[in-house]
Amino acid sequence: MFASLSDRLSATFKSLRGKGRLTEADISTTVSEIRRALLDADVAVPAVRAFTAAVRERAGSAEVSQALNPSQQIVKIVHEQLVEILGGDSRELTFAKRPPTVIMLAGLQGAGKTTLAGKLGAWLKEQGHTPLLVASDLQRPNAVNQLEVVGERAGVHVWAPERGNGVGDPIQVARSGVEHAREKFYDVVVVDTAGRLGVDAEMMQQAADIRDAVSPDETLFVLDAMIGQDAVTTAQAFADGVGFTGVVLSKLDGDARGGAALSVRTVTGAPVLFASTGEKLGDFERFHPDRMASRILD
Ligand code: GDP
Repeated sequence: MFASLSDRLSATFKSLRGKGRLTEADISTTVSEIRRALLDADVAVPAVRAFTAAVRERAGSAEVSQALNPSQQIVKIVHEQLVEILGGDSRELTFAKRPPTVIMLAGLQGAGKTTLAGKLGAWLKEQGHTPLLVASDLQRPNAVNQLEVVGERAGVHVWAPERGNGVGDPIQVARSGVEHAREKFYDVVVVDTAGRLGVDAEMMQQAADIRDAVSPDETLFVLDAMIGQDAVTTAQAFADGVGFTGVVLSKLDGDARGGAALSVRTVTGAPVLFASTGEKLGDFERFHPDRMASRILD
């Protein structure tokens, strides 16, 4: 992840080494190279525009420190703008004043929602919570079973529809799951929902209906970082169709070029809360913009 963007940026910075001060021309060339590197990394155009405008303005302004050489100055500005575009400060999960807190997961099929439900369950348990996972993905034949498997692995209970009752109603399962949590004193409910391979009106309506039935405290949009430029249109469609309060970037362990991570905040306004970095339960971390920025520039 980010390997090629990192290489491109360090090459750009290297070309500034040994310069005594930055001329207008140096700044222009550097900003163009940064723009190209970001576009090649699949970063969305509005995000690239905001990023390069900020770098250009700051590099040309009086804030530039005398204590740093031009290359260091640009690295510092780019680092700070990367933090900014990645969302600034990291945000904590919001818990309801009166439990249970309801966290709904939304996203395309294959984005990593069911895997994430297990990871979140394990993580919440570690934090001293008593989570319940709710299987409202009744679209994918094996999804309920998969959630039960990850739940067992995480040592977290799973609320699933009764077997043998036909297809079942995902909205009813979500509602009864939250009710069950309230009765049995689970303090966080994670609702797994169905996705489709592409954005689909029926799926979006179902997710919106589940949202209306359980009034989530957090709706987390799970975004596969590997889907490149499509990430932005998908995120936008979910923002319009369901709405979400936060983003989880999944498959950050892959060799994606990083565009999704760098665009999603600018495009949707929602912060990235967590990162999924593999298939195992422990491959999961809070998302820290400053650490991610350092990883890109290292
Ligand atoms: P869902 O359809 O959104 O519920 O997606 P799943 O949770 O079933 O995940 C789809 C596939 O991606 C599965 O094979 C997962 O093991 C895999 N997967 C999920 N998260 C990650 C991740 O962070 N990294 C990698 N490498 N694979 C992941």
